Amino acid sequence: MIDKNKYVIERTGDMKVPAYIYINDELLSKMNDEPLRQLMNVASLPGIVKAAYAMPDIHLGYGFPIGGVAAFDYDEGIVSPGGVGYDINCGVSLIKTNISYNDAKSRIKDLIDEIFKNVPAGIDLKSSFRVNKNDMTDILSDGIKWAVSKGYGTERDIESTEENGSMNSNPDKVSEKAISRGINEVGSLGGGNHFLEIQKVDRIFDERTARYFGIEKDNIMIMVHTGSRGLGHQVATDYLMELNEKSDIKVKDRQLISAYTKSGIGESYIMAMNSAANFGFVNRQIILYKIRRAFESVFKKDFESLGLDLVYSLAHNMAKIEEHNIDNKRLKLIVHRKGATRAFPAGYSTGKFKNTGHPVLIPGDMGTASYVLTGNKNNMEMSFGSSCHGAGRALSRKKANDAFNPDDVLKNLGNHGIYVRAASSKVITEEAPGSYKDIDEVIKIVSELGMSNIISRHVPLGVMKG
Ligand code: 5GP
Ligand code: MN
Ligand code: MN
Repeated sequence: MIDKNKYVIERTGDMKVPAYIYINDELLSKMNDEPLRQLMNVASLPGIVKAAYAMPDIHLGYGFPIGGVAAFDYDEGIVSPGGVGYDINCGVSLIKTNISYNDAKSRIKDLIDEIFKNVPAGIDLKSSFRVNKNDMTDILSDGIKWAVSKGYGTERDIESTEENGSMNSNPDKVSEKAISRGINEVGSLGGGNHFLEIQKVDRIFDERTARYFGIEKDNIMIMVHTGSRGLGHQVATDYLMELNEKSDIKVKDRQLISAYTKSGIGESYIMAMNSAANFGFVNRQIILYKIRRAFESVFKKDFESLGLDLVYSLAHNMAKIEEHNIDNKRLKLIVHRKGATRAFPAGYSTGKFKNTGHPVLIPGDMGTASYVLTGNKNNMEMSFGSSCHGAGRALSRKKANDAFNPDDVLKNLGNHGIYVRAASSKVITEEAPGSYKDIDEVIKIVSELGMSNIISRHVPLGVMKG
């Protein structure tokens, strides 16, 4: 430990930079070394600058640990599909309402059931939402601008989405196979860790910012966690396979296989990744559209008068080209956040969130709580402007499955007034609150470190699991 909540692994062996872990003693003692070994491997990759970072929700991932942040020099460094993850632009959106808990509490089950009918969940279910091939090209190039032009959202939704829901991309770099996997999945939740949750605002920590974001105590909010579905998975698979044949970059672990950013394949991957990111933004936007319809049908009022507005939609699996100050030099970097959330503070955010910093949405688990944060200025120095992305797993899926019984988990949630609708019973045990770290602890760490400011805490009322 070098400071409270901060550990370092000094450079050793092939490491080009040190690795910092933002965590407390207790969470660290519960972890095995494997994710830290992964972080050291990341610190050995070509062109990495400053340090590799791990957030308190760190756990084992594919090559890169989940909860990891690493930035590479854009001209001399690499981009690594494993540093983004298979679910490109997996992320979170948060929707506000002006409906109070008292007015909604008897309708939670109806709302979840209505949404469950319209938003496919589980691994293989196809969306009833139809798009054609031309739409797919537009979705991959324009992101949510496509959705709004078709009437599936408002201009305000665009302002409230990271990158305005549209990244510089090239659909030609996405395989036919990836497109055919995505075409039936627009507006679908997917399985496992993905969820849709109706929450109540339990506590406000920063009244002014919360109000600006549209968050009011005791009101109902909806949080959605999903990404780019089969399309993103296929993009990752395609490029990992190609790199497996072509890449001659030396890596400590095959899963870290990478491309120089400026190589042909590196540039193609970035364009394909951004196309998949656009698909992810659209996927969450179409789910928002369906949520609005479900609320309208249950409350018999239009969504505008129910105040169903997007607070924010963000990615927590992405590599992004950003400029950062390092040793008083401005550098162009490609910042990989894998299970980590961008958290730019006031002054670094743009558009609507210039003066507050954009909302940082942190799900916890289906039994405890979730948070909204903003980035603190220290953050830029400490982690390239990042934060944790969740509580992070404490038990692997298999261990969680062995440890819990689905009926007990459901009963326990029910006793806390939480209604759960799941596509499978396995997901109940794999995703049981006890399989995750304590979200309150994780948030305390990023707050005590001065990386993030806590804006609000939300508790679950109704959950839909894939
Ligand atoms: P990941 O993107 O790594 O799959 O997960 C993001 C985070 O979502 C997890 O670390 C966990 O803290 C959180 N999470 C998973 N399931 C649920 C859920 O049903 N409800 C809430 N509120 N959070 C969840
Ligand atoms: Mn995901
Ligand atoms: Mn995710």
